[in-house]
Formats: sequence, structure tokens, C-alpha cells
Amino acid sequence: MAKIKCTNCGCTELKEVFIYDIVSASECSSPRDPVNNYACMKCGHVETYLCELDPVAREKREAAEKGRERVLSETLKQAEDCIAEFKKLSEIILDENSTQRQAREARVELNKVQDRFKREYYKIRETDSKTASKLHREMEEARNNYVGNQQRDRNRYN
Ligand SMILES: [Zn+2]
Repeated sequence: MAKIKCTNCGCTELKEVFIYDIVSASECSSPRDPVNNYACMKCGHVETYLCELDPVAREKREAAEKGRERVLSETLKQAEDCIAEFKKLSEIILDENSTQRQAREARVELNKVQDRFKREYYKIRETDSKTASKLHREMEEARNNYVGNQQRDRNRYN
């Protein structure tokens, strides 16, 4: 918690309070600067900050921003993992040394991984469309590679 200090007694224990003005109808139409108020728990003095200068509110804003960044980087990691897993699974499917059962299981996982990727991709696209399209390209490439190799395999056996 950011430190705010009572300018009257120096106490640092302040609590956010909401002060409602009793205003006439004409005054209602003139908007006031948005402020936050903190009352000193010791002497009752009220400290007022303009919202954008309020140290407590600023810290909350920054924490929320950091939280969003963390979520985004976690989502990004998930999406990248999906692409890596897709590549790994398609290799298993295409590997002639894989048993039919292994290939079948890998195919099921391959579908799941694509669904998972789609979910992460949509989340990323909301906040970072550039990164999202880069991931989308990577996934497309992996998919085309897989489909192309599958085609080659089929031609080889026919
Ligand atoms: Zn005080």
C-alpha cells in the first residue's frame, strides 16, 4: 500500500472515505474534479487528492496493469506450448515407427491442442492483435507442414 500521511498530525493510518456534497440543482451541472478522500484515523483530518495524483489509486492502477501483463504472458506461453505440442504430435502421427494406437491417440490430442490454441489465441487477440497474428501464422505453418507431409506419405504408399 502506498504511504499517505496526514498533513495535520503526521499519522500514516488513513482510510478512504466518501464525502457527498449537498448541492443545489444549478451546481449539479458543473462537474467537479474527481477526487479521492482519506480521513486520518487519529485526528480526523481529511486528505484530498485529485484522482490521477492519488498515490494509493495509482498503486492500485499499476498493480492492475501488472496483473493484466502477467495474465497476457501466461496466455502467450500457453499458446506457444500448444504450437510446440502440435508439432510434436504431428511428428508422432507421421512417424512410420509409431504404432496405430500411438498415432490414433496423437490425432485425438492434436484436435484438443488446436481447440486450446484457439481459446488462447482469442484471448491474446483482444489485447495484442500483432502478437496474435504472429502466433496464428506459426500455427498455420505447423498445420500446413503436417498436412503436406501427410499428403506426401499417402502418395508414397499409393
Ligand atoms: Zn491526523
